[in-house]
Amino acid sequence: MIRNLVIAIVLIAAGFGLYTVMQDEPATTPTVAVEPVAAESTTPKVGMIDDERIKNATSEPGNWLSYGHGYEEQRFSLLEQVNKDSVSKLGLAWFKDMQSNRALESTPIVVDNMMFLTTAWSRVYALSAITGEEIWSYDPKVPGAWARKACCDVVNRGAAVYKGRVYVASLDGRLIALDAATGEEVWQINTLIDRDADYTITGAPRVANGKVFIGNGGAEYGVRGYVTAYDADTGEQVWRFYTVPGDPSKPFESPTMEMAAETWKGGEWWKLGGGGTVWNSIVYDPEFDQLYIGVGNGSPWARDIRSPGGGDNLFLSSIVALDADTGTYKWHYQTTPKDNWDYTAVQDMVLADLEVDGVDRKVLMQAPKNGFFYVLDRSNGELLRANKYVTATWATHVDMDTGRPVEDPAYDYSDETKWILPGPLGGHNWQAMAFDEKRRLAFIPAMENPLSYSMDEEWKNTGVYKHIVGGWNTGIELGNIMQVMAEGGTPPKVRGYLKAFDPITGKEKWAVEQIHHWNGGTLATEGGLVFQGNSLGEVKAYDSDTGDVLWSYNAFTSFLAPPITYQIDDVQYVAILAGTGGGDLFGGESNHLASTTYGNFGKLLVFKLDGTAELPQPTALNRSIPVQPASDASAEDIARGENVYHSTCAVCHGLMARSSGVVPDLRMTNELRNGLYKEIVLDGILAGTGMASFADLLDENDVEKVQAYVIHRANEDRAAAAAAAED
Ligand code: CA
Repeated sequence: MIRNLVIAIVLIAAGFGLYTVMQDEPATTPTVAVEPVAAESTTPKVGMIDDERIKNATSEPGNWLSYGHGYEEQRFSLLEQVNKDSVSKLGLAWFKDMQSNRALESTPIVVDNMMFLTTAWSRVYALSAITGEEIWSYDPKVPGAWARKACCDVVNRGAAVYKGRVYVASLDGRLIALDAATGEEVWQINTLIDRDADYTITGAPRVANGKVFIGNGGAEYGVRGYVTAYDADTGEQVWRFYTVPGDPSKPFESPTMEMAAETWKGGEWWKLGGGGTVWNSIVYDPEFDQLYIGVGNGSPWARDIRSPGGGDNLFLSSIVALDADTGTYKWHYQTTPKDNWDYTAVQDMVLADLEVDGVDRKVLMQAPKNGFFYVLDRSNGELLRANKYVTATWATHVDMDTGRPVEDPAYDYSDETKWILPGPLGGHNWQAMAFDEKRRLAFIPAMENPLSYSMDEEWKNTGVYKHIVGGWNTGIELGNIMQVMAEGGTPPKVRGYLKAFDPITGKEKWAVEQIHHWNGGTLATEGGLVFQGNSLGEVKAYDSDTGDVLWSYNAFTSFLAPPITYQIDDVQYVAILAGTGGGDLFGGESNHLASTTYGNFGKLLVFKLDGTAELPQPTALNRSIPVQPASDASAEDIARGENVYHSTCAVCHGLMARSSGVVPDLRMTNELRNGLYKEIVLDGILAGTGMASFADLLDENDVEKVQAYVIHRANEDRAAAAAAAED
């Protein structure tokens, strides 16, 4: 152990290559401000955001007051200085290096002249919204080892600002209130029912009526989902709503849980967690004083393991309306009864007033992972529309009489492998869609990315499902994924789109196909524009009516975060965070990804008309794979290593040991690190960077086999590169 400590210290002192970069040091570099601005407007003013202001957010388009702009979460701005005619003059006003190489997913909040945003590891920054000057920053000091509990990167999607405070939830499950003027901590509380369980928080809290609402993630690992409301003043718990029932031999928390338990049959789901985590969308509706929560997938994914006796498994994959003051259940709509595919309904929800079949309705809209776009009457949850917005093969249609999807038996994977669309990334993920009410169009970052679904082989062979504490528990076969993919036959093509979708007709107005599937959220404006950053590293402005590209800027950094816009002293700004990762680390290397080519150096970019700031030109990474250590591993050893790698390592380090450039590419492992595999994987000498010990899941033998597989893969790709160079 002392030897390992010494090694760790030596490595850290030596500035140890990629791993040290991965530490995501807190930002210290000042922003590049490009032009002097009047001192008066740059003096930080901390505007008092309250319920009324968020409710009337559209009446002050100069600000961006809450996660989705206002309580409706339409991500639509009435600003129009930047419009179809002027957008060609849009240029960089300033940028800030966020000292991060993990995904940046945050929506900044802008009030008066201050901007509040979050970065990886749940850090918070308060900046001048005019110059980018840092006013304060706050680091909740999330333990690096907590990264192991995060299915989808150490990300954070944003803060809430309310009555002079900034609220942020940390990856390790704390809710923290900061003084908006100084960044001083006012209070922090633990939101987790069990800190040993694999919970994480990546979502933005929402605020209303003096309460802060927050959920959590962790369904892949096996946890029970819930949402909690806290007193914004004191941090005291006001109410908690569980999304799935607990152990039925114990008293239920509420009659609602008793009702939900009747839809779970035959298994011991409470031992597997059940899932249903609320990791992204929570929307407050002032018109009905309701809170809508988007509920996630089942844990494990495969329903035959989770609930072998059948049943819909409430409230998995559902939109649930709660009384915002008491947390009492009001209604629900389940998008995917008996979820079997990781079809979360946690995607962002948009509230709007729309005429539907001649009747004015207050609607809620969502494009969840399952590929259908839903329009509900939010007064009662009545289903008004359900149309496919992408290719979805698991179900033929939604029966509008019953409100239920009709599954296609041709895609039943209980006995044989099936390529199914959408896959676990969904037809649309957390990357927010924007909604233009006048045009009646939702602008969706859509995907068609299939998965070869196949039941867990051990369960198939023995009938016993082994729940792995601290690992992924999907119930579908991941270890032998390469063989499973081959068994599934020809996969459907992977595609990415930006789609303008009419929720009432259920038809696309236009669609732009994109080169890579994993792109950013969207912003729509009165200027007739839709803004989006993509995985190639470009931010683009599209014509809202036609999808024509009117402006494009190459930032050489892949995007996921949604852009926002604001206006101060008659200058309209468009701001967006760059930096990829998130849920598609598994997808790995791609020659199209800016992160693969240039690395993943997170930054905040702010544009205005006639902006003249320039980003430093990046240099392409040296991607040649180093010479590997000699290995006498047998084919069986390598096959065993491949299985362990894909069960345990691939979700972060990428399919076939090819990383997207966000976390270290193991094929690039140098001689020194190749000599420290066991110290890294078992002793956890790099835990501080997020690479915690896996000694609870793997032994020395496993690690040797994984290393043999990675060396084998590195040699294969070296040989392929050499052959290509000779051609
Ligand atoms: Ca999931």
